Amino acid sequence: MTPEQKTYLPVSQLALETFRQTPNHDLELLIKTPTGTYQTAWERAYGEPALNPDSRLPGLLGGEDFMPPGKRKLLFGTHLNGRCPADCLDCPFGSTTIRAIYASESDLHYTLARPITPAELSAFLVRAKQIAVERGILKSGETFSAGALLSGDPGYNRHTAELVAAVSRVPDCEACRWSTIAPDTGHNVLAAFIKGAQLAREIDPAHISSFQASLHSTDHEVRVRHTGVTRLLSMSDIAAASQEIYQITGRKLSLAFVLHAGSVIDHRVLKDNFSPDHNIISLRPIYSATTLPMNPDNTIKLYSQLRKDGWDVVYMPPNQGNGGPPIELHNMRG
Ligand code: SF4
Repeated sequence: MTPEQKTYLPVSQLALETFRQTPNHDLELLIKTPTGTYQTAWERAYGEPALNPDSRLPGLLGGEDFMPPGKRKLLFGTHLNGRCPADCLDCPFGSTTIRAIYASESDLHYTLARPITPAELSAFLVRAKQIAVERGILKSGETFSAGALLSGDPGYNRHTAELVAAVSRVPDCEACRWSTIAPDTGHNVLAAFIKGAQLAREIDPAHISSFQASLHSTDHEVRVRHTGVTRLLSMSDIAAASQEIYQITGRKLSLAFVLHAGSVIDHRVLKDNFSPDHNIISLRPIYSATTLPMNPDNTIKLYSQLRKDGWDVVYMPPNQGNGGPPIELHNMRG
């Protein structure tokens, strides 16, 4: 175990202390692995150097240069225990992976994730902070940030606006990042983000709510294939919401793309649909069981073109630079 891993919270304890099982047992731990489940994984988030690493990109791609670790972040799901209704490429919480895990652990039930409520989320974050202080991970009164990144998309939770507001009320939680694949579920996740941003601003103007749309491709059919979701909100919907969110928060909505050899990202479509005034581009190479990595020359070509088009680009390298496992799996599996 590396020193970094030692500071991760033992998740099963927090989950059991924080969430009660309902009579129909739908609050079982999500993924029962030797290291626990995702809900209390503290992530090393990337810091500022990930933004516009123009001169460093070749070194990062070649593995000679690494991003320094950023601040710790508490990751939480917008759903509890079960599979995400979506099925994004190789996501540990998508239907395909969860089905395989459940098949190998016969004592677990295969359940659809239940949306978390604002009261549960508040209690979870307050308790997570207490435990972090008890274990010396954070000092009393020290601020922390949170991220609604794992297990379930906010588009499937009708409480999303209230969740954004609830996090802004949590003492010492200075920032929270919300991400969606923008599924068209009838709960309009983009409208919920806008309402949540407004509420959070009224509750605590210093709290930072930031938002991401995980677009993954500029081609609608490729988005559908990547997410396993047939109904997705359009790029023009996302662009309109980006503008409103920027007006409320002063922060640009990230358009996130995972990078692999089959990625379809057309810089002209981005230019035609979105604005560098309201959006930022986030590129994240992935290690995937079902895809090949994007050729480094193509990554540099894409990155350079996006910078030329006036975009701020966040580049998130795929590992922590210590020869360990890919950061995606490292984080998500606790
Ligand atoms: S929406 Fe998020 S949690 Fe759900 S399958 Fe996709 S990446 Fe995973």
